[in-house]
Amino acid sequence: MISQKYTVFNAVQNCFDSLDTNNFAVLGRREDPMWESPIIGVAAGDDPYYDFLKEHIGPFHWTPAEAFAQKYEDVPDPGKLRVISIAFPQTAATKVMQMQAGAFPCDNWLVSRGEWEPLIRSFCLLLQKELERNGIRCVCPELLSGMTWKRSEKLGLASSWSQRHTAYAAGLGTFGLSDGLITRRGIAVRFTSMVIEADIPAYGRVSEDPYAWCTRCGACIRRCPADAISSESGHDKEACSAFEDYCVENFWPEHIERGNYIFGCGLCQAGIPCSDRPPVREEITYRQIRPSDNAQLADLVRISLGANGLDIPGTAFFDPCLEDLYAFYQENPRDRYYIVAENPQGRIVGGIGFDRFDRLEDCAELQKLYVAADFRRMRIASRLLLKMEKEAAKRGYKRIYLETHSNLQPALKFYERAGYVNIPRPEYAVHETMDQFLIKEMLQ
Ligand code: SF4
Ligand code: SF4
Repeated sequence: MISQKYTVFNAVQNCFDSLDTNNFAVLGRREDPMWESPIIGVAAGDDPYYDFLKEHIGPFHWTPAEAFAQKYEDVPDPGKLRVISIAFPQTAATKVMQMQAGAFPCDNWLVSRGEWEPLIRSFCLLLQKELERNGIRCVCPELLSGMTWKRSEKLGLASSWSQRHTAYAAGLGTFGLSDGLITRRGIAVRFTSMVIEADIPAYGRVSEDPYAWCTRCGACIRRCPADAISSESGHDKEACSAFEDYCVENFWPEHIERGNYIFGCGLCQAGIPCSDRPPVREEITYRQIRPSDNAQLADLVRISLGANGLDIPGTAFFDPCLEDLYAFYQENPRDRYYIVAENPQGRIVGGIGFDRFDRLEDCAELQKLYVAADFRRMRIASRLLLKMEKEAAKRGYKRIYLETHSNLQPALKFYERAGYVNIPRPEYAVHETMDQFLIKEMLQ
């Protein structure tokens, strides 16, 4: 059964993929993407953190139900609302340029910040339409006409809806000294969010300590040309904004049209330990599959396939066993095996398994290796693969066969690096849509 989580996550990915402005055409480089694929977090609509935000930011900050009420007359119980927080990471190329910049941000940074408002508006309008088409009521707070900016006693100028605080509530990361949110893709990200009425499990915060992933290394302090960050008082918004005004007046590059661009400095977000990932490693547990993992695993597989255009017949997307992987692997535990990777909040963020492959001697078929988009680049896939291979060897398998698709280029490279060798399509292929076949002879 296709879940609402799949519907929502797939809609986010499709809307991102269909944006025709996600590139540096302004700089004559239409082929270069401006933002990487987004990662998504989920907060509960009745998360008490929103009450805390009313105290911390000010009474003008909305709860999810208050935002929802501005579009719909009948607001459901707040517990039935979810807030999906969507983080768009800067590309690796932009971060390298920004790291090499002196006391003025690089062109990529200026343009990606300057083009952000129209880009994200198009994205949110598309996403709203797509969710509504799927029968999911939704409100994008930043598109609401009631959105205001007021002076908050504790935080200076603040809006009725804080994207960064929402991202924290949605389990996307924790704050850094510079006030940015350190996500699993680093601190160089921009956010949007949507309040939706849908039955999706909330992720839970990374930590109750809002600064858990900031090591207070001070690299952002040293990178700031305006002395606007300190280890004692954090980020000085006034000094930051004064520096930005000064830069705009004195150093705006002539070859970039100023237009309505909002200036973004962001020098404190590149070339520092939290640019690309959290400097603190997240504890991941590897264990055998349990019945309670089924729903999360089915979503993980479907969302990963959907993001690569493989939500089609002839792929694992429609495998009959997908709804109850636990039962499938338990049915024949001597030949079959499945392990998952779980984060401290109980999210299943990866998995891998095998089954006896009768058509080749002493062979296991590698099955369903998936890692959630926000947990990639953390070596989780490598650890899963290694554990799976060890278990297969223990059970006497001498080779491992797998089927995959050419749409999954990073996965293909990953398998090749791990010693898997490409073979022509064999007669015994299992999934008709798959077009890549690999085998690994294991060392005895
Ligand atoms: S550079 Fe260091 S101190 Fe600054 S936000 Fe990142 S981890 Fe924290
Ligand atoms: S955005 Fe620029 S001025 Fe502001 S804190 Fe970061 S480095 Fe300093």
